[in-house]
Amino acid sequence: MDNCDLAPLHVRGIAPYQPGKPIAELAREMDLLECDIVKLASNENPLGASPRALAAIENVLMEVARYPDGSGFTLKTALAQKHGVEMNQIVLGNGSNDVLELVARAFLTPQTSAVYSQYAFAVYPLATQAVGARGIEVPASNFGHDPEALLAAIAEDTRILFIANPNNPTGTLLEPERLLNLIERMPGNVLAVLDEAYTEYLPNELRSDITGWLKRFPNLIVTRTFSKAYGLAGLRVGYALASPQVADMMNRVRQPFNVNAFAQAAAVAAMEDITFLDECLEINRAGMAQLTDGFERLGLGYIPSRGNFIAVRVGDAAAVNRSLLTQGVIVRPIANYGMPEHLRVSVGLEGENKVFLLALERALEELKK
Ligand SMILES: *Cc1c(COP(=O)(O)O)cnc(C)c1O
Repeated sequence: MDNCDLAPLHVRGIAPYQPGKPIAELAREMDLLECDIVKLASNENPLGASPRALAAIENVLMEVARYPDGSGFTLKTALAQKHGVEMNQIVLGNGSNDVLELVARAFLTPQTSAVYSQYAFAVYPLATQAVGARGIEVPASNFGHDPEALLAAIAEDTRILFIANPNNPTGTLLEPERLLNLIERMPGNVLAVLDEAYTEYLPNELRSDITGWLKRFPNLIVTRTFSKAYGLAGLRVGYALASPQVADMMNRVRQPFNVNAFAQAAAVAAMEDITFLDECLEINRAGMAQLTDGFERLGLGYIPSRGNFIAVRVGDAAAVNRSLLTQGVIVRPIANYGMPEHLRVSVGLEGENKVFLLALERALEELKK
Protein backbone atom coordinates (compact mmCIF):
# COMPACT_ATOMS: atom_id res chain seq x y z
CA MET A 1 0.00 0.00 0.00
CA ASP A 2 1.18 3.48 -0.86
CA ASN A 3 1.14 5.29 2.45
CA CYS A 4 0.58 8.60 0.67
CA ASP A 5 -3.07 7.53 0.58
CA LEU A 6 -3.16 8.00 4.33
CA ALA A 7 -2.76 11.75 3.92
CA PRO A 8 -5.93 13.72 3.14
CA LEU A 9 -6.44 14.89 -0.44
CA HIS A 10 -5.73 18.53 0.38
CA VAL A 11 -2.30 17.57 1.73
CA ARG A 12 -1.47 15.39 -1.26
CA GLY A 13 -2.42 18.27 -3.53
CA ILE A 14 0.12 20.69 -2.04
CA ALA A 15 2.79 21.92 -4.46
CA PRO A 16 5.98 22.07 -2.37
CA TYR A 17 7.57 25.49 -1.74
CA GLN A 18 10.57 26.04 -4.01
CA PRO A 19 13.36 27.70 -2.06
CA GLY A 20 16.39 29.40 -3.57
CA LYS A 21 19.13 26.91 -4.40
CA PRO A 22 21.64 26.69 -1.54
CA ILE A 23 25.21 27.77 -2.35
CA ALA A 24 26.67 24.40 -1.29
CA GLU A 25 24.31 22.54 -3.65
CA LEU A 26 25.32 24.57 -6.70
CA ALA A 27 28.99 24.22 -5.74
CA ARG A 28 28.56 20.41 -5.78
CA GLU A 29 26.56 20.38 -9.01
CA MET A 30 28.83 22.69 -11.00
CA ASP A 31 32.09 21.78 -9.30
CA LEU A 32 32.56 25.41 -8.23
CA LEU A 33 34.08 26.88 -5.09
CA GLU A 34 31.46 28.14 -2.68
CA CYS A 35 33.33 31.45 -2.40
CA ASP A 36 32.98 31.99 -6.16
CA ILE A 37 29.21 31.70 -6.09
CA VAL A 38 26.94 34.74 -5.92
CA LYS A 39 23.54 34.02 -4.39
CA LEU A 40 20.87 36.63 -4.98
CA ALA A 41 17.93 34.28 -4.66
CA SER A 42 16.29 34.55 -1.25
CA ASN A 43 16.15 38.26 -0.42
CA GLU A 44 18.76 37.79 2.26
CA ASN A 45 20.71 40.72 3.70
CA PRO A 46 23.98 41.02 1.74
CA LEU A 47 25.66 42.72 4.73
CA GLY A 48 24.83 39.79 6.99
CA ALA A 49 23.66 40.53 10.53
CA SER A 50 24.42 43.31 12.99
CA PRO A 51 27.61 42.68 14.99
CA ARG A 52 25.51 43.33 18.07
CA ALA A 53 23.18 40.48 17.11
CA LEU A 54 26.17 38.17 16.66
CA ALA A 55 27.51 39.13 20.08
CA ALA A 56 24.10 38.48 21.62
CA ILE A 57 24.12 34.96 20.15
CA GLU A 58 27.50 34.27 21.73
CA ASN A 59 26.17 35.30 25.10
CA VAL A 60 23.43 32.68 24.84
CA LEU A 61 25.74 29.84 23.77
CA MET A 62 26.36 28.64 27.32
CA GLU A 63 22.60 28.37 27.88
CA VAL A 64 22.10 26.00 24.99
CA ALA A 65 21.00 23.12 27.23
CA ARG A 66 18.07 25.17 28.50
CA TYR A 67 14.73 25.64 26.80
CA PRO A 68 14.21 29.13 25.45
CA ASP A 69 11.75 31.52 27.11
CA GLY A 70 8.49 30.26 25.64
CA SER A 71 6.81 33.57 26.44
CA GLY A 72 9.57 35.54 24.68
CA PHE A 73 9.40 38.15 27.44
CA THR A 74 12.42 40.29 26.54
CA LEU A 75 11.73 40.33 22.81
CA LYS A 76 8.04 41.03 23.32
CA THR A 77 8.86 43.86 25.73
CA ALA A 78 11.05 45.48 23.08
CA LEU A 79 8.44 44.94 20.36
CA ALA A 80 5.61 46.30 22.51
CA GLN A 81 7.59 49.47 23.05
CA LYS A 82 8.60 49.80 19.40
CA HIS A 83 5.06 49.42 18.09
CA GLY A 84 3.01 50.96 20.90
CA VAL A 85 1.06 47.75 21.56
CA GLU A 86 0.45 45.58 24.62
CA MET A 87 2.46 42.37 25.19
CA ASN A 88 -0.71 40.31 24.73
CA GLN A 89 -1.04 41.63 21.18
CA ILE A 90 2.19 39.95 20.05
CA VAL A 91 2.68 36.42 18.68
CA LEU A 92 6.27 35.32 18.09
CA GLY A 93 7.08 32.94 15.26
CA ASN A 94 9.86 30.73 13.94
CA GLY A 95 10.15 33.18 11.06
CA SER A 96 7.08 35.14 10.02
CA ASN A 97 6.28 32.11 7.87
CA ASP A 98 5.40 30.42 11.17
CA VAL A 99 2.94 33.14 12.22
CA LEU A 100 1.29 33.03 8.80
CA GLU A 101 0.68 29.33 9.38
CA LEU A 102 -0.56 30.01 12.90
CA VAL A 103 -3.19 32.37 11.47
CA ALA A 104 -4.28 29.67 9.02
CA ARG A 105 -4.35 26.96 11.70
CA ALA A 106 -6.25 29.12 14.17
CA PHE A 107 -8.87 30.50 11.79
CA LEU A 108 -9.28 28.29 8.73
CA THR A 109 -11.09 24.96 8.36
CA PRO A 110 -12.04 22.89 5.29
CA GLN A 111 -15.36 24.78 5.33
CA THR A 112 -13.74 28.19 4.93
CA SER A 113 -11.68 30.15 2.42
CA ALA A 114 -8.80 32.62 2.23
CA VAL A 115 -8.38 35.34 -0.38
CA TYR A 116 -5.05 36.47 -1.84
CA SER A 117 -3.76 38.09 -4.97
CA GLN A 118 -2.31 36.51 -8.09
CA TYR A 119 1.51 36.65 -7.80
CA ALA A 120 1.20 36.92 -4.02
CA PHE A 121 3.69 35.25 -1.68
CA ALA A 122 3.61 31.45 -2.14
CA VAL A 123 3.15 30.73 1.55
CA TYR A 124 -0.50 31.96 1.51
CA PRO A 125 -1.79 29.21 -0.77
CA LEU A 126 0.43 26.69 1.02
CA ALA A 127 -0.82 27.59 4.51
CA THR A 128 -4.40 27.67 3.25
CA GLN A 129 -4.20 24.30 1.55
CA ALA A 130 -2.39 22.64 4.45
CA VAL A 131 -5.52 23.08 6.60
CA GLY A 132 -7.88 22.02 3.81
CA ALA A 133 -9.37 25.48 3.27
CA ARG A 134 -10.20 26.92 -0.14
CA GLY A 135 -7.82 29.44 -1.65
CA ILE A 136 -9.35 32.22 -3.74
CA GLU A 137 -6.77 33.78 -6.04
CA VAL A 138 -7.68 37.23 -7.32
CA PRO A 139 -6.26 38.57 -10.60
CA ALA A 140 -3.58 41.20 -10.03
CA SER A 141 -3.63 44.60 -11.64
CA ASN A 142 -0.30 45.53 -13.23
CA PHE A 143 1.37 42.81 -11.07
CA GLY A 144 0.06 44.48 -7.88
CA HIS A 145 -2.90 43.98 -5.56
CA ASP A 146 -6.26 45.10 -6.92
CA PRO A 147 -8.24 46.29 -3.86
CA GLU A 148 -11.62 46.33 -5.60
CA ALA A 149 -11.15 42.81 -6.95
CA LEU A 150 -9.92 41.54 -3.57
CA LEU A 151 -13.00 42.99 -1.83
CA ALA A 152 -15.30 41.56 -4.47
CA ALA A 153 -13.73 38.09 -4.07
CA ILE A 154 -14.51 37.84 -0.35
CA ALA A 155 -17.06 35.04 -0.02
CA GLU A 156 -19.54 34.09 2.71
CA ASP A 157 -17.05 31.54 4.07
CA THR A 158 -13.93 33.75 3.80
CA ARG A 159 -12.04 34.20 7.07
CA ILE A 160 -8.71 35.65 5.91
CA LEU A 161 -7.46 38.11 3.32
CA PHE A 162 -3.67 37.88 2.89
CA ILE A 163 -1.93 41.06 1.67
CA ALA A 164 1.86 41.22 1.26
CA ASN A 165 2.97 44.85 1.14
CA PRO A 166 5.38 45.28 -0.54
CA ASN A 167 4.57 42.03 -2.30
CA ASN A 168 7.06 39.27 -3.03
CA PRO A 169 8.00 38.37 -5.81
CA THR A 170 6.72 41.48 -7.64
CA GLY A 171 7.99 44.20 -5.28
CA THR A 172 4.78 46.17 -5.86
CA LEU A 173 3.33 48.38 -3.14
CA LEU A 174 -0.23 49.34 -2.32
CA GLU A 175 0.18 52.90 -1.00
CA PRO A 176 -0.92 53.49 2.62
CA GLU A 177 -4.12 55.38 1.74
CA ARG A 178 -5.33 52.71 -0.65
CA LEU A 179 -4.39 49.98 1.81
CA LEU A 180 -6.24 51.75 4.62
CA ASN A 181 -9.26 52.14 2.36
CA LEU A 182 -9.20 48.41 1.63
CA ILE A 183 -9.01 47.48 5.32
CA GLU A 184 -11.79 49.96 6.20
CA ARG A 185 -14.09 48.40 3.64
CA MET A 186 -13.44 44.77 4.63
CA PRO A 187 -16.16 42.96 6.55
CA GLY A 188 -15.27 42.87 10.28
CA ASN A 189 -15.50 39.07 10.34
CA VAL A 190 -12.67 38.64 7.83
CA LEU A 191 -9.12 38.92 9.15
CA ALA A 192 -6.81 41.22 7.20
CA VAL A 193 -3.32 39.67 7.33
CA LEU A 194 -0.94 42.45 6.37
CA ASP A 195 2.47 40.88 5.68
CA GLU A 196 5.10 43.60 6.01
CA ALA A 197 8.26 41.53 5.54
CA TYR A 198 9.92 44.35 3.57
CA THR A 199 8.50 47.40 5.34
CA GLU A 200 11.92 48.58 6.60
CA TYR A 201 12.93 49.33 3.00
CA LEU A 202 10.11 51.84 2.53
CA PRO A 203 10.57 55.59 2.89
CA ASN A 204 8.66 56.94 5.88
CA GLU A 205 5.86 58.46 3.84
CA LEU A 206 4.98 55.06 2.33
CA ARG A 207 4.83 53.16 5.64
CA SER A 208 1.55 52.09 7.14
CA ASP A 209 0.50 53.41 10.54
CA ILE A 210 0.15 49.97 12.09
CA THR A 211 0.02 51.32 15.65
CA GLY A 212 -3.02 53.44 14.80
CA TRP A 213 -4.58 50.83 12.53
CA LEU A 214 -4.31 48.07 15.15
CA LYS A 215 -6.27 50.28 17.56
CA ARG A 216 -8.98 50.84 14.96
CA PHE A 217 -9.30 47.38 13.41
CA PRO A 218 -9.71 44.33 15.67
CA ASN A 219 -9.61 42.16 12.51
CA LEU A 220 -6.13 43.38 11.49
CA ILE A 221 -3.06 41.14 11.84
CA VAL A 222 0.32 42.63 10.91
CA THR A 223 3.29 40.31 10.38
CA ARG A 224 6.94 41.33 10.41
CA THR A 225 10.24 39.47 10.13
CA PHE A 226 13.87 39.70 11.18
CA SER A 227 14.89 37.71 8.08
CA LYS A 228 15.24 40.52 5.57
CA ALA A 229 16.48 44.00 6.59
CA TYR A 230 17.71 42.69 9.97
CA GLY A 231 19.71 39.88 8.37
CA LEU A 232 18.65 37.02 10.65
CA ALA A 233 17.08 34.66 8.09
CA GLY A 234 19.05 31.66 9.33
CA LEU A 235 17.81 32.04 12.89
CA ARG A 236 14.09 32.09 11.99
CA VAL A 237 12.29 34.81 13.92
CA GLY A 238 9.28 36.92 13.06
CA TYR A 239 6.09 38.07 14.76
CA ALA A 240 2.49 39.06 14.38
CA LEU A 241 0.67 41.99 15.98
CA ALA A 242 -3.07 41.70 16.43
CA SER A 243 -5.92 42.35 18.84
CA PRO A 244 -5.43 40.51 22.17
CA GLN A 245 -8.26 38.11 21.25
CA VAL A 246 -6.82 37.20 17.86
CA ALA A 247 -3.29 36.92 19.29
CA ASP A 248 -4.65 34.62 22.00
CA MET A 249 -6.11 32.23 19.41
CA MET A 250 -2.84 32.17 17.47
CA ASN A 251 -0.83 31.53 20.63
CA ARG A 252 -3.03 28.54 21.46
CA VAL A 253 -1.96 26.68 18.32
CA ARG A 254 1.67 27.80 18.63
CA GLN A 255 4.33 25.33 19.76
CA PRO A 256 5.41 26.42 23.26
CA PHE A 257 9.08 26.91 22.31
CA ASN A 258 8.78 27.89 18.65
CA VAL A 259 11.41 30.65 18.76
CA ASN A 260 14.85 29.51 19.86
CA ALA A 261 17.01 31.32 22.40
CA PHE A 262 19.59 32.56 19.86
CA ALA A 263 16.89 34.03 17.67
CA GLN A 264 15.22 35.84 20.58
CA ALA A 265 18.48 37.36 21.83
CA ALA A 266 19.69 38.32 18.35
CA ALA A 267 16.37 39.92 17.44
CA VAL A 268 16.46 42.19 20.50
CA ALA A 269 20.04 43.26 19.73
CA ALA A 270 19.29 43.74 16.02
CA MET A 271 16.38 46.08 16.83
CA GLU A 272 18.70 48.26 18.88
CA ASP A 273 21.32 48.59 16.14
CA ILE A 274 19.80 51.43 14.14
CA THR A 275 23.18 52.31 12.61
CA PHE A 276 23.54 48.88 11.02
CA LEU A 277 19.95 48.94 9.76
CA ASP A 278 20.49 52.34 8.15
CA GLU A 279 23.62 51.06 6.46
CA CYS A 280 21.66 48.09 5.06
CA LEU A 281 18.95 50.38 3.71
CA GLU A 282 21.54 52.60 2.03
CA ILE A 283 23.29 49.59 0.44
CA ASN A 284 19.91 48.42 -0.80
CA ARG A 285 19.04 51.81 -2.29
CA ALA A 286 22.36 52.01 -4.13
CA GLY A 287 22.21 48.36 -5.24
CA MET A 288 18.66 48.74 -6.54
CA ALA A 289 19.77 51.72 -8.67
CA GLN A 290 22.75 49.71 -9.92
CA LEU A 291 20.47 46.84 -10.98
CA THR A 292 17.83 48.99 -12.68
CA ASP A 293 20.56 50.95 -14.51
CA GLY A 294 22.00 47.64 -15.67
CA PHE A 295 18.60 46.37 -16.84
CA GLU A 296 18.02 49.55 -18.79
CA ARG A 297 21.43 49.26 -20.41
CA LEU A 298 20.53 45.69 -21.44
CA GLY A 299 17.13 46.81 -22.71
CA LEU A 300 15.27 44.67 -20.18
CA GLY A 301 11.92 45.54 -18.62
CA TYR A 302 11.46 45.23 -14.87
CA ILE A 303 8.76 45.74 -12.26
CA PRO A 304 9.70 48.77 -10.13
CA SER A 305 10.24 47.34 -6.64
CA ARG A 306 9.96 48.67 -3.10
CA GLY A 307 11.73 45.68 -1.54
CA ASN A 308 15.30 44.33 -1.50
CA PHE A 309 14.71 42.38 -4.72
CA ILE A 310 13.40 43.02 -8.20
CA ALA A 311 11.66 41.02 -10.92
CA VAL A 312 13.30 41.51 -14.30
CA ARG A 313 11.84 40.37 -17.61
CA VAL A 314 14.44 38.32 -19.48
CA GLY A 315 12.33 36.33 -21.95
CA ASP A 316 13.01 32.62 -21.58
CA ALA A 317 13.77 32.85 -17.86
CA ALA A 318 14.41 29.12 -17.46
CA ALA A 319 17.14 29.22 -20.12
CA VAL A 320 18.68 32.41 -18.74
CA ASN A 321 18.62 30.89 -15.28
CA ARG A 322 20.43 27.76 -16.49
CA SER A 323 23.17 29.91 -17.97
CA LEU A 324 23.44 31.99 -14.78
CA LEU A 325 23.83 28.81 -12.73
CA THR A 326 26.69 27.56 -14.92
CA GLN A 327 28.30 30.96 -14.26
CA GLY A 328 27.89 30.51 -10.51
CA VAL A 329 25.04 32.98 -10.04
CA ILE A 330 21.89 31.92 -8.20
CA VAL A 331 18.72 33.97 -8.67
CA ARG A 332 15.08 32.89 -8.42
CA PRO A 333 13.00 31.70 -11.37
CA ILE A 334 9.35 32.52 -10.68
CA ALA A 335 7.54 30.40 -13.25
CA ASN A 336 5.80 28.76 -10.28
CA TYR A 337 4.21 32.19 -9.67
CA GLY A 338 2.97 32.28 -13.26
CA MET A 339 5.83 34.56 -14.33
CA PRO A 340 7.88 32.39 -16.74
CA GLU A 341 9.55 35.39 -18.40
CA HIS A 342 10.83 37.00 -15.20
CA LEU A 343 13.64 36.25 -12.78
CA ARG A 344 13.58 37.61 -9.23
CA VAL A 345 16.94 38.98 -8.15
CA SER A 346 17.82 40.05 -4.63
CA VAL A 347 19.82 43.25 -4.27
CA GLY A 348 23.38 42.32 -3.31
CA LEU A 349 26.59 44.16 -2.56
CA GLU A 350 27.99 46.30 -5.36
CA GLY A 351 30.44 43.58 -6.45
CA GLU A 352 27.75 40.87 -6.40
CA ASN A 353 25.36 42.98 -8.47
CA LYS A 354 28.15 43.58 -10.94
CA VAL A 355 28.93 39.85 -11.26
CA PHE A 356 25.24 39.16 -11.74
CA LEU A 357 24.79 41.85 -14.42
CA LEU A 358 27.82 40.59 -16.36
CA ALA A 359 26.59 37.01 -16.14
CA LEU A 360 23.13 38.13 -17.24
CA GLU A 361 24.56 39.95 -20.25
CA ARG A 362 26.53 36.84 -21.21
CA ALA A 363 23.46 34.62 -20.76
CA LEU A 364 21.38 36.85 -23.04
CA GLU A 365 24.11 36.83 -25.68
CA GLU A 366 24.40 33.04 -25.55
CA LEU A 367 20.65 32.73 -26.12
CA LYS A 368 20.75 35.01 -29.14
CA LYS A 369 23.15 32.64 -30.92
C1 LIG B 1 10.57 36.44 3.20
C2 LIG B 1 9.11 36.68 3.38
C3 LIG B 1 8.42 36.32 4.55
C4 LIG B 1 8.94 35.59 5.70
O1 LIG B 1 10.09 35.15 5.91
P1 LIG B 1 10.50 34.50 7.29
O2 LIG B 1 11.93 34.24 7.08
O3 LIG B 1 9.68 33.28 7.48
O4 LIG B 1 10.22 35.52 8.34
C5 LIG B 1 7.10 36.62 4.68
N1 LIG B 1 6.44 37.24 3.72
C6 LIG B 1 7.04 37.61 2.60
C7 LIG B 1 6.24 38.31 1.58
C8 LIG B 1 8.37 37.31 2.38
O5 LIG B 1 8.94 37.63 1.23
